[in-house]
Amino acid sequence: MVVRYTGDVRVVVIGAGPVGLVVAALLGRRGVDVRVLERHAAPYPLPRAVHLDGEVLRVLQDVGVLGRFQAVSRGMPGLRLVEPRGRVLAEFARDSAVGANGVAESSMFEQPALERLLLDEVGDRVEWGVTVTGVDGPTVQTDRGEIRAEYVLACDGADSFVRRELGITSRVLGRPQQWLVVDVRGDGVVDWGGVHQVCDRRRPATFMRVVGDHYRWEFRVDGPADPRTLLARWTPVDDIEIIRAATYTFRSRVAERWRRGPVFLLGDAAHEGPPFIGQGLGAGLRDAHNLAWKLALVLDGGDPGILDTYQTERAPHVTRMIRAAHIVGWALSAGPVRRSVIGAAARLPGIPTAALRFSSPALDPGRLVRRTPLAGTLCPQWRTADGWSDDLLGPHPTVVDLDSPYAEWLRGAGVQAALIRPDRIVLGTAKSTTDTIRLSEIATALGGHD
Ligand SMILES: Cc1cc2nc3c(=O)[nH]c(=O)nc-3n(C[C@H](O)[C@H](O)[C@H](O)COP(=O)(O)OP(=O)(O)OC[C@H]3O[C@@H](n4cnc5c(N)ncnc54)[C@H](O)[C@@H]3O)c2cc1C
Repeated sequence: MVVRYTGDVRVVVIGAGPVGLVVAALLGRRGVDVRVLERHAAPYPLPRAVHLDGEVLRVLQDVGVLGRFQAVSRGMPGLRLVEPRGRVLAEFARDSAVGANGVAESSMFEQPALERLLLDEVGDRVEWGVTVTGVDGPTVQTDRGEIRAEYVLACDGADSFVRRELGITSRVLGRPQQWLVVDVRGDGVVDWGGVHQVCDRRRPATFMRVVGDHYRWEFRVDGPADPRTLLARWTPVDDIEIIRAATYTFRSRVAERWRRGPVFLLGDAAHEGPPFIGQGLGAGLRDAHNLAWKLALVLDGGDPGILDTYQTERAPHVTRMIRAAHIVGWALSAGPVRRSVIGAAARLPGIPTAALRFSSPALDPGRLVRRTPLAGTLCPQWRTADGWSDDLLGPHPTVVDLDSPYAEWLRGAGVQAALIRPDRIVLGTAKSTTDTIRLSEIATALGGHD
Protein backbone atom coordinates (compact mmCIF):
# COMPACT_ATOMS: atom_id res chain seq x y z
CA MET A 1 0.00 0.00 0.00
CA VAL A 2 1.36 3.46 -0.84
CA VAL A 3 1.09 6.16 1.78
CA ARG A 4 -1.52 8.57 0.53
CA TYR A 5 0.10 11.91 1.27
CA THR A 6 3.20 11.52 -0.93
CA GLY A 7 4.32 14.77 -2.45
CA ASP A 8 3.37 17.84 -0.53
CA VAL A 9 4.40 17.28 3.10
CA ARG A 10 6.78 19.91 4.42
CA VAL A 11 7.79 18.08 7.61
CA VAL A 12 7.70 14.38 8.46
CA VAL A 13 7.91 13.43 12.13
CA ILE A 14 9.01 9.86 12.88
CA GLY A 15 7.44 8.56 16.10
CA ALA A 16 4.18 9.45 17.86
CA GLY A 17 5.67 9.45 21.35
CA PRO A 18 5.13 12.60 23.39
CA VAL A 19 8.02 14.46 21.73
CA GLY A 20 6.85 13.69 18.20
CA LEU A 21 3.29 14.69 19.06
CA VAL A 22 4.38 17.96 20.69
CA VAL A 23 6.66 19.05 17.86
CA ALA A 24 3.93 18.19 15.34
CA ALA A 25 1.40 20.20 17.35
CA LEU A 26 3.72 23.20 17.63
CA LEU A 27 4.42 23.14 13.88
CA GLY A 28 0.74 22.63 13.09
CA ARG A 29 -0.17 25.67 15.17
CA ARG A 30 2.32 27.66 13.12
CA GLY A 31 0.60 26.59 9.91
CA VAL A 32 3.17 23.99 8.83
CA ASP A 33 1.95 20.92 6.95
CA VAL A 34 3.28 18.06 9.05
CA ARG A 35 2.71 14.29 9.18
CA VAL A 36 3.63 11.88 11.97
CA LEU A 37 4.53 8.25 11.18
CA GLU A 38 4.18 5.73 14.00
CA ARG A 39 5.00 2.03 13.74
CA HIS A 40 2.52 0.96 16.42
CA ALA A 41 -1.17 0.66 15.59
CA ALA A 42 -2.22 2.65 18.68
CA PRO A 43 -0.72 4.80 21.46
CA TYR A 44 1.49 3.02 24.02
CA PRO A 45 -0.88 2.42 26.97
CA LEU A 46 1.52 2.03 29.94
CA PRO A 47 2.90 4.78 32.20
CA ARG A 48 6.55 5.85 31.97
CA ALA A 49 7.24 9.52 32.67
CA VAL A 50 5.34 10.79 35.71
CA HIS A 51 6.89 14.21 36.38
CA LEU A 52 7.23 17.50 34.52
CA ASP A 53 8.56 20.82 35.84
CA GLY A 54 6.91 24.22 35.54
CA GLU A 55 9.17 25.37 32.69
CA VAL A 56 8.05 22.49 30.53
CA LEU A 57 4.38 23.12 31.30
CA ARG A 58 4.84 26.27 29.24
CA VAL A 59 5.58 24.06 26.23
CA LEU A 60 2.24 22.32 26.82
CA GLN A 61 0.69 25.77 27.12
CA ASP A 62 2.04 26.64 23.66
CA VAL A 63 0.51 23.42 22.37
CA GLY A 64 -2.83 24.54 23.81
CA VAL A 65 -3.32 21.76 26.37
CA LEU A 66 -2.16 23.38 29.63
CA GLY A 67 -5.60 23.70 31.25
CA ARG A 68 -6.51 20.13 30.36
CA PHE A 69 -3.12 18.89 31.58
CA GLN A 70 -3.65 20.64 34.93
CA ALA A 71 -7.00 18.86 35.21
CA VAL A 72 -5.34 15.42 34.94
CA SER A 73 -2.19 16.19 36.95
CA ARG A 74 -1.43 17.42 40.46
CA GLY A 75 1.14 19.81 41.92
CA MET A 76 3.90 17.94 43.74
CA PRO A 77 4.78 19.39 47.16
CA GLY A 78 8.48 18.52 47.47
CA LEU A 79 11.07 15.90 48.18
CA ARG A 80 12.07 13.67 51.10
CA LEU A 81 15.38 11.89 51.48
CA VAL A 82 14.68 8.66 53.32
CA GLU A 83 17.00 6.22 55.14
CA PRO A 84 16.88 2.48 54.29
CA ARG A 85 14.59 1.80 57.28
CA GLY A 86 12.17 4.56 56.30
CA ARG A 87 13.27 7.36 58.67
CA VAL A 88 13.13 10.76 56.95
CA LEU A 89 16.66 12.13 56.61
CA ALA A 90 15.66 15.49 55.16
CA GLU A 91 12.51 17.09 53.83
CA PHE A 92 12.38 19.83 51.22
CA ALA A 93 8.74 20.91 51.28
CA ARG A 94 7.37 23.65 49.05
CA ASP A 95 5.30 26.35 50.70
CA SER A 96 4.00 27.81 47.45
CA ALA A 97 2.12 25.93 44.77
CA VAL A 98 2.98 28.36 41.97
CA GLY A 99 6.50 29.34 40.88
CA ALA A 100 8.15 31.76 38.44
CA ASN A 101 6.42 30.05 35.53
CA GLY A 102 2.96 30.90 36.89
CA VAL A 103 2.13 27.20 37.29
CA ALA A 104 3.07 24.38 39.69
CA GLU A 105 6.85 24.01 39.80
CA SER A 106 6.47 20.24 39.72
CA SER A 107 3.54 18.19 38.43
CA MET A 108 2.78 14.48 38.67
CA PHE A 109 0.83 12.89 35.81
CA GLU A 110 0.39 9.71 33.78
CA GLN A 111 2.09 9.69 30.36
CA PRO A 112 -0.85 8.01 28.55
CA ALA A 113 -3.16 10.78 29.85
CA LEU A 114 -0.81 13.43 28.46
CA GLU A 115 -0.58 11.61 25.13
CA ARG A 116 -4.38 11.52 24.87
CA LEU A 117 -4.46 15.32 25.22
CA LEU A 118 -1.78 15.69 22.58
CA LEU A 119 -3.65 13.38 20.23
CA ASP A 120 -6.73 15.57 20.60
CA GLU A 121 -4.58 18.29 19.04
CA VAL A 122 -2.70 16.34 16.35
CA GLY A 123 -4.37 12.94 16.06
CA ASP A 124 -5.50 13.68 12.50
CA ARG A 125 -1.87 14.14 11.45
CA VAL A 126 -0.73 10.74 12.76
CA GLU A 127 -0.40 7.74 10.45
CA TRP A 128 -0.53 4.65 12.71
CA GLY A 129 1.06 1.32 11.81
CA VAL A 130 3.69 2.82 9.48
CA THR A 131 7.28 1.69 10.13
CA VAL A 132 10.09 3.82 8.79
CA THR A 133 12.67 1.58 7.11
CA GLY A 134 15.06 4.09 5.58
CA VAL A 135 15.95 7.78 5.56
CA ASP A 136 17.80 9.26 2.63
CA GLY A 137 18.06 13.02 3.09
CA PRO A 138 14.50 14.34 3.02
CA THR A 139 13.14 11.07 1.58
CA VAL A 140 11.62 8.67 4.10
CA GLN A 141 11.06 5.04 3.16
CA THR A 142 8.37 3.14 5.01
CA ASP A 143 6.80 -0.29 4.83
CA ARG A 144 3.88 1.41 3.06
CA GLY A 145 5.67 3.59 0.56
CA GLU A 146 7.96 6.56 0.27
CA ILE A 147 7.43 10.15 1.39
CA ARG A 148 9.42 13.24 0.48
CA ALA A 149 9.51 16.19 2.81
CA GLU A 150 11.68 19.26 3.28
CA TYR A 151 12.62 18.33 6.85
CA VAL A 152 12.51 15.07 8.79
CA LEU A 153 12.27 15.06 12.59
CA ALA A 154 13.37 11.77 14.16
CA CYS A 155 11.46 11.42 17.43
CA ASP A 156 11.84 7.65 17.37
CA GLY A 157 12.97 7.07 20.93
CA ALA A 158 16.04 5.77 22.74
CA ASP A 159 16.78 2.99 20.23
CA SER A 160 16.37 5.44 17.36
CA PHE A 161 16.46 3.69 14.00
CA VAL A 162 17.23 7.00 12.31
CA ARG A 163 20.20 7.74 14.57
CA ARG A 164 21.68 4.37 13.68
CA GLU A 165 20.82 4.72 9.97
CA LEU A 166 22.65 8.06 9.87
CA GLY A 167 25.64 6.59 11.70
CA ILE A 168 25.41 9.10 14.55
CA THR A 169 27.30 8.04 17.65
CA SER A 170 26.62 9.21 21.21
CA ARG A 171 28.81 10.65 23.95
CA VAL A 172 28.46 8.44 27.01
CA LEU A 173 28.13 10.40 30.28
CA GLY A 174 27.76 7.58 32.79
CA ARG A 175 27.42 3.85 33.28
CA PRO A 176 24.07 2.23 32.44
CA GLN A 177 21.97 1.13 35.42
CA GLN A 178 19.13 -1.34 35.66
CA TRP A 179 16.03 -0.24 37.54
CA LEU A 180 12.86 -2.16 38.26
CA VAL A 181 9.88 0.15 37.83
CA VAL A 182 6.70 -0.96 39.61
CA ASP A 183 3.36 0.79 39.20
CA VAL A 184 0.66 -0.10 41.74
CA ARG A 185 -2.89 0.86 42.64
CA GLY A 186 -4.15 1.04 46.20
CA ASP A 187 -5.67 3.26 48.90
CA GLY A 188 -3.45 5.64 50.85
CA VAL A 189 -0.35 3.57 50.05
CA VAL A 190 1.97 6.54 50.71
CA ASP A 191 0.80 9.26 53.08
CA TRP A 192 2.87 12.23 51.81
CA GLY A 193 2.31 13.67 48.32
CA GLY A 194 5.96 14.41 47.48
CA VAL A 195 8.71 12.24 46.02
CA HIS A 196 10.65 9.94 48.39
CA GLN A 197 14.26 9.17 47.51
CA VAL A 198 15.65 6.21 49.45
CA CYS A 199 19.38 6.75 50.09
CA ASP A 200 20.63 3.19 50.32
CA ARG A 201 23.92 1.97 48.88
CA ARG A 202 22.60 -1.59 48.51
CA ARG A 203 19.11 -0.84 47.18
CA PRO A 204 18.60 2.80 46.06
CA ALA A 205 14.92 3.45 45.40
CA THR A 206 12.34 6.13 44.70
CA PHE A 207 8.65 6.09 45.47
CA MET A 208 5.73 8.47 45.17
CA ARG A 209 2.04 8.89 44.56
CA VAL A 210 1.47 9.67 40.89
CA VAL A 211 -2.20 10.68 40.60
CA GLY A 212 -5.38 9.21 42.12
CA ASP A 213 -4.71 5.73 43.47
CA HIS A 214 -1.66 5.19 41.23
CA TYR A 215 1.71 4.89 43.00
CA ARG A 216 5.21 4.29 41.59
CA TRP A 217 8.27 2.51 43.04
CA GLU A 218 11.63 2.34 41.29
CA PHE A 219 14.40 0.07 42.64
CA ARG A 220 17.93 -0.28 41.35
CA VAL A 221 18.53 -3.95 40.59
CA ASP A 222 21.46 -6.04 39.42
CA GLY A 223 19.42 -8.76 37.74
CA PRO A 224 15.99 -10.39 37.96
CA ALA A 225 14.11 -9.26 41.10
CA ASP A 226 10.69 -10.01 42.52
CA PRO A 227 8.64 -6.79 42.77
CA ARG A 228 6.51 -8.12 45.67
CA THR A 229 9.59 -8.90 47.77
CA LEU A 230 11.01 -5.43 47.17
CA LEU A 231 7.69 -3.69 47.81
CA ALA A 232 7.05 -5.64 51.02
CA ARG A 233 9.67 -3.53 52.80
CA TRP A 234 7.57 -0.42 52.18
CA THR A 235 3.91 -1.40 52.02
CA PRO A 236 1.59 -4.38 52.76
CA VAL A 237 1.58 -6.10 49.38
CA ASP A 238 -1.78 -7.82 49.89
CA ASP A 239 -3.50 -4.41 49.88
CA ILE A 240 -2.23 -3.28 46.48
CA GLU A 241 -2.59 -4.27 42.84
CA ILE A 242 0.57 -4.33 40.73
CA ILE A 243 -0.42 -2.89 37.37
CA ARG A 244 3.00 -3.12 35.75
CA ALA A 245 6.53 -4.16 36.70
CA ALA A 246 9.31 -3.75 34.14
CA THR A 247 13.08 -3.55 34.25
CA TYR A 248 14.61 -0.65 32.35
CA THR A 249 18.24 0.05 31.54
CA PHE A 250 18.76 3.76 32.15
CA ARG A 251 21.57 5.15 30.02
CA SER A 252 23.33 8.49 30.12
CA ARG A 253 24.31 9.62 26.65
CA VAL A 254 23.98 12.53 24.26
CA ALA A 255 24.18 12.23 20.46
CA GLU A 256 27.34 13.73 18.96
CA ARG A 257 25.29 15.27 16.12
CA TRP A 258 21.65 16.30 16.37
CA ARG A 259 21.31 16.99 12.67
CA ARG A 260 22.40 15.56 9.38
CA GLY A 261 21.24 17.77 6.50
CA PRO A 262 17.44 18.02 6.66
CA VAL A 263 17.14 15.33 9.38
CA PHE A 264 17.04 16.31 13.07
CA LEU A 265 17.06 14.15 16.22
CA LEU A 266 14.75 15.07 19.12
CA GLY A 267 13.85 13.57 22.50
CA ASP A 268 15.23 10.21 23.60
CA ALA A 269 16.63 9.75 20.08
CA ALA A 270 19.07 12.59 20.87
CA HIS A 271 19.69 12.04 24.58
CA GLU A 272 18.98 9.77 27.51
CA GLY A 273 19.55 10.31 31.21
CA PRO A 274 18.61 8.58 34.45
CA PRO A 275 15.13 9.52 35.68
CA PHE A 276 16.20 10.63 39.20
CA ILE A 277 15.12 14.22 38.66
CA GLY A 278 12.25 13.38 36.30
CA GLN A 279 13.71 15.30 33.35
CA GLY A 280 13.90 12.83 30.43
CA LEU A 281 10.66 13.78 28.76
CA GLY A 282 11.06 17.40 29.83
CA ALA A 283 14.31 17.55 27.86
CA GLY A 284 12.55 16.19 24.77
CA LEU A 285 9.74 18.74 25.05
CA ARG A 286 12.38 21.49 25.36
CA ASP A 287 13.92 20.18 22.11
CA ALA A 288 10.55 20.43 20.40
CA HIS A 289 9.95 23.97 21.65
CA ASN A 290 13.45 25.06 20.65
CA LEU A 291 13.27 23.69 17.10
CA ALA A 292 9.62 24.22 16.13
CA TRP A 293 9.61 28.03 15.89
CA LYS A 294 12.96 28.09 14.09
CA LEU A 295 11.81 25.51 11.56
CA ALA A 296 8.51 27.34 10.98
CA LEU A 297 10.45 30.54 10.39
CA VAL A 298 12.80 28.89 7.90
CA LEU A 299 9.89 27.25 6.05
CA ASP A 300 8.41 30.75 5.82
CA GLY A 301 11.53 32.03 4.05
CA GLY A 302 13.81 32.74 7.03
CA ASP A 303 17.57 32.15 7.10
CA PRO A 304 18.19 28.36 7.30
CA GLY A 305 21.41 29.11 9.24
CA ILE A 306 19.38 29.55 12.44
CA LEU A 307 18.69 25.82 12.46
CA ASP A 308 22.32 25.23 13.47
CA THR A 309 21.52 26.80 16.84
CA TYR A 310 19.30 23.83 17.71
CA GLN A 311 22.17 21.56 18.74
CA THR A 312 24.44 24.32 20.07
CA GLU A 313 21.68 25.46 22.42
CA ARG A 314 20.12 22.17 23.41
CA ALA A 315 23.08 19.76 23.74
CA PRO A 316 24.95 21.67 26.51
CA HIS A 317 21.66 22.23 28.36
CA VAL A 318 20.63 18.58 28.40
CA THR A 319 24.19 17.53 29.29
CA ARG A 320 24.02 19.74 32.40
CA MET A 321 20.63 18.28 33.33
CA ILE A 322 21.95 14.72 33.00
CA ARG A 323 24.89 15.63 35.22
CA ALA A 324 22.43 17.06 37.80
CA ALA A 325 20.57 13.73 37.71
CA HIS A 326 23.88 11.98 38.42
CA ILE A 327 24.32 14.07 41.59
CA VAL A 328 20.92 12.89 42.82
CA GLY A 329 21.96 9.34 41.88
CA TRP A 330 25.06 9.84 44.04
CA ALA A 331 22.86 10.80 47.03
CA LEU A 332 20.61 7.80 46.36
CA SER A 333 23.47 5.35 46.56
CA ALA A 334 24.66 6.77 49.90
CA GLY A 335 26.03 4.59 52.67
CA PRO A 336 25.89 5.69 56.36
CA VAL A 337 28.73 8.26 56.14
CA ARG A 338 27.46 9.96 53.01
CA ARG A 339 23.93 9.93 54.49
CA SER A 340 25.04 11.82 57.59
CA VAL A 341 26.81 14.41 55.40
CA ILE A 342 23.66 14.82 53.29
CA GLY A 343 21.47 15.09 56.43
CA ALA A 344 23.73 17.79 57.91
CA ALA A 345 23.89 19.72 54.63
CA ALA A 346 20.09 19.64 54.33
CA ARG A 347 19.83 21.42 57.71
CA LEU A 348 22.02 24.36 56.62
CA PRO A 349 20.09 27.64 56.28
CA GLY A 350 18.87 28.26 52.73
CA ILE A 351 19.62 24.76 51.41
CA PRO A 352 16.04 23.40 51.46
CA THR A 353 14.73 26.47 49.62
CA ALA A 354 17.55 26.35 47.08
CA ALA A 355 16.97 22.63 46.48
CA LEU A 356 13.33 23.29 45.69
CA ARG A 357 13.63 26.39 43.57
CA PHE A 358 13.87 24.75 40.20
CA SER A 359 15.15 26.58 37.18
CA SER A 360 17.07 24.89 34.44
CA PRO A 361 20.45 26.30 33.26
CA ALA A 362 20.55 29.29 30.90
CA LEU A 363 21.29 28.50 27.25
CA ASP A 364 24.86 29.26 26.19
CA PRO A 365 25.45 32.48 24.23
CA GLY A 366 25.25 32.12 20.44
CA ARG A 367 23.52 33.53 17.42
CA LEU A 368 20.08 33.63 19.13
CA VAL A 369 21.33 34.21 22.69
CA ARG A 370 23.28 37.46 23.17
CA ARG A 371 25.85 38.11 25.89
CA THR A 372 23.55 40.34 27.94
CA PRO A 373 21.86 39.98 31.35
CA LEU A 374 19.02 37.41 31.41
CA ALA A 375 19.83 36.15 27.89
CA GLY A 376 19.33 32.40 27.57
CA THR A 377 16.90 32.20 30.51
CA LEU A 378 13.13 31.82 30.38
CA CYS A 379 11.17 35.00 30.95
CA PRO A 380 8.77 34.80 33.91
CA GLN A 381 5.08 34.12 33.47
CA TRP A 382 2.13 35.17 35.61
CA ARG A 383 -1.65 35.38 35.49
CA THR A 384 -3.07 38.70 34.22
CA ALA A 385 -6.67 39.89 34.11
CA ASP A 386 -6.68 38.88 30.41
CA GLY A 387 -5.03 35.47 30.81
CA TRP A 388 -1.44 34.27 30.86
CA SER A 389 1.36 36.72 30.16
CA ASP A 390 2.87 34.19 27.69
CA ASP A 391 -0.31 34.37 25.66
CA LEU A 392 0.10 38.14 25.41
CA LEU A 393 3.50 37.56 23.78
CA GLY A 394 2.02 35.41 21.03
CA PRO A 395 3.89 33.22 18.53
CA HIS A 396 6.55 35.73 17.31
CA PRO A 397 9.77 37.19 18.75
CA THR A 398 8.66 40.17 20.82
CA VAL A 399 10.42 43.16 22.37
CA VAL A 400 9.05 44.14 25.79
CA ASP A 401 10.04 47.39 27.50
CA LEU A 402 9.42 49.47 30.60
CA ASP A 403 5.94 50.43 29.35
CA SER A 404 4.89 46.77 29.20
CA PRO A 405 3.67 44.45 31.97
CA TYR A 406 7.29 43.18 32.10
CA ALA A 407 8.59 46.49 33.57
CA GLU A 408 9.18 45.21 37.11
CA TRP A 409 11.13 42.17 35.88
CA LEU A 410 13.24 44.34 33.54
CA ARG A 411 13.98 46.90 36.28
CA GLY A 412 15.00 44.06 38.61
CA ALA A 413 17.68 43.08 36.08
CA GLY A 414 18.76 46.71 35.46
CA VAL A 415 17.71 46.71 31.79
CA GLN A 416 15.11 48.66 29.83
CA ALA A 417 14.04 46.16 27.20
CA ALA A 418 14.21 42.45 26.35
CA LEU A 419 13.70 40.47 23.16
CA ILE A 420 11.74 37.30 23.98
CA ARG A 421 11.80 34.42 21.51
CA PRO A 422 8.70 32.36 20.68
CA ASP A 423 9.98 29.64 23.04
CA ARG A 424 9.94 32.31 25.81
CA ILE A 425 13.75 32.33 26.03
CA VAL A 426 15.28 35.79 26.36
CA LEU A 427 17.34 36.42 23.21
CA GLY A 428 18.91 39.55 24.66
CA THR A 429 18.32 42.64 26.76
CA ALA A 430 19.10 46.34 26.28
CA LYS A 431 20.27 49.05 28.67
CA SER A 432 20.04 51.94 26.18
CA THR A 433 17.70 53.23 23.50
CA THR A 434 20.25 52.36 20.82
CA ASP A 435 20.42 48.75 22.04
CA THR A 436 16.61 48.60 22.23
CA ILE A 437 16.40 49.67 18.57
CA ARG A 438 18.91 46.95 17.73
CA LEU A 439 16.72 44.37 19.51
CA SER A 440 13.71 45.57 17.49
CA GLU A 441 15.69 45.09 14.27
CA ILE A 442 16.60 41.55 15.28
CA ALA A 443 12.95 40.85 16.16
CA THR A 444 11.83 42.11 12.74
CA ALA A 445 14.46 40.00 10.98
CA LEU A 446 13.10 36.97 12.87
CA GLY A 447 9.55 37.75 11.80
CA GLY A 448 8.62 39.45 15.05
CA HIS A 449 7.33 42.76 16.33
CA ASP A 450 7.43 45.04 19.38
C1 LIG B 1 10.32 4.04 33.83
C2 LIG B 1 10.53 5.39 33.25
C3 LIG B 1 10.26 6.50 34.02
C4 LIG B 1 10.43 7.76 33.48
N1 LIG B 1 10.11 8.86 34.23
C5 LIG B 1 10.22 10.10 33.72
C6 LIG B 1 9.77 11.27 34.43
O1 LIG B 1 9.27 11.18 35.55
N2 LIG B 1 9.89 12.48 33.83
C7 LIG B 1 10.38 12.60 32.58
O2 LIG B 1 10.48 13.74 32.08
N3 LIG B 1 10.78 11.52 31.85
C8 LIG B 1 10.71 10.28 32.39
N4 LIG B 1 11.05 9.19 31.64
C9 LIG B 1 11.55 9.36 30.27
C10 LIG B 1 10.40 9.52 29.27
O3 LIG B 1 9.45 8.50 29.37
C11 LIG B 1 10.99 9.55 27.88
O4 LIG B 1 12.00 10.57 27.87
C12 LIG B 1 9.95 9.87 26.83
O5 LIG B 1 8.96 8.89 26.71
C13 LIG B 1 10.64 10.00 25.48
O6 LIG B 1 9.72 10.42 24.54
P1 LIG B 1 10.06 10.32 22.99
O7 LIG B 1 8.85 10.84 22.31
O8 LIG B 1 11.39 10.94 22.73
O9 LIG B 1 10.28 8.77 22.72
P2 LIG B 1 9.26 7.54 22.86
O10 LIG B 1 8.23 7.82 23.89
O11 LIG B 1 10.11 6.33 23.04
O12 LIG B 1 8.52 7.49 21.47
C14 LIG B 1 9.19 7.05 20.28
C15 LIG B 1 8.13 6.60 19.29
O13 LIG B 1 8.75 6.35 18.04
C16 LIG B 1 8.16 5.17 17.49
N5 LIG B 1 9.12 4.58 16.53
C17 LIG B 1 10.34 4.08 16.81
N6 LIG B 1 10.93 3.63 15.69
C18 LIG B 1 10.05 3.84 14.67
C19 LIG B 1 10.10 3.59 13.27
N7 LIG B 1 11.16 3.02 12.68
N8 LIG B 1 9.03 3.94 12.52
C20 LIG B 1 7.95 4.53 13.08
N9 LIG B 1 7.85 4.78 14.42
C21 LIG B 1 8.90 4.45 15.19
C22 LIG B 1 7.94 4.30 18.71
O14 LIG B 1 7.00 3.27 18.46
C23 LIG B 1 7.46 5.31 19.73
O15 LIG B 1 6.05 5.48 19.71
C24 LIG B 1 10.91 7.90 32.16
C25 LIG B 1 11.20 6.77 31.40
C26 LIG B 1 11.00 5.54 31.92
C27 LIG B 1 11.28 4.34 31.07
